[in-house]
Amino acid sequence: MAAMRATLLFLLALWPSLLLALPTELPAPGGVAILGLGQADERPQATFNDEQVAVLPGENGWKALVGLPLSLEPGDHRIEVAWADGRRSWHRFTVQDREYGESRITIAEERLVSPGPEDMKRIEAERARIREALRTWTNAAPDFNFVLPTEGRFTTGFGLRRYINDQPRNPHNGLDIAAPTGTPIHAPSPGRVILTGDFFFAGKSVFLDHGHGVISFYAHMNDIHVQDGQSVERGEQIGEIGATGRVTGPHLHWTIYLNRTAVDPTLFFER
Ligand SMILES: [Zn+2]
Repeated sequence: MAAMRATLLFLLALWPSLLLALPTELPAPGGVAILGLGQADERPQATFNDEQVAVLPGENGWKALVGLPLSLEPGDHRIEVAWADGRRSWHRFTVQDREYGESRITIAEERLVSPGPEDMKRIEAERARIREALRTWTNAAPDFNFVLPTEGRFTTGFGLRRYINDQPRNPHNGLDIAAPTGTPIHAPSPGRVILTGDFFFAGKSVFLDHGHGVISFYAHMNDIHVQDGQSVERGEQIGEIGATGRVTGPHLHWTIYLNRTAVDPTLFFER
């Protein structure tokens, strides 16, 4: 253990920037809370609402990175931490209110707005596969030196309340980047492909696991350039911009999940 700690301290001294690269903290619905947990030789396990959250080494001990759902009530919340020596501790944090705007889009194809029973069967099966993919947990430390996955214009932002043909829908859980069909989409950070498919709403899509419950999702692709199980480097092409699934034009819909919670992707890169 002492040797491991010495190695860790050595690495901390060598690459402080690597270890300091964290998402921007935003303790609000759709944001990320970063909580100092304290020192220990072994990495503790932390949970928020029974979901395991990322715990990473920081300058002054372990840090928990908690993805906060858009539906979370502002006010006091806490995570539970289980330490290797059997201790448990609770760490409180305060969630502030955050106002998101609204987005209204019109989809001409009625089937994509109010799917029939056959389509609903397909949609339910796809949701189950996606839920399963989001359950992925690997112990590799995520590399938060994210780059943008594509070049384009930011259109619909994260968190907007959505109306499709004037019907209320779930809030927009990603960031839309519009670019011409065929524009390359790159992995923003090293990861592994955990799910690819052609989904009813999302069209041709890729899910990447970056470790510790950090999972990114790319939708509406024209073409997918990777296969399930494949490892990808930062900047490696995973597909190209398209207009598959429920869209009004070619764009990338990009979601980042922490502890199975979609959070604002703009917290992951310099603006
Ligand atoms: Zn979108």
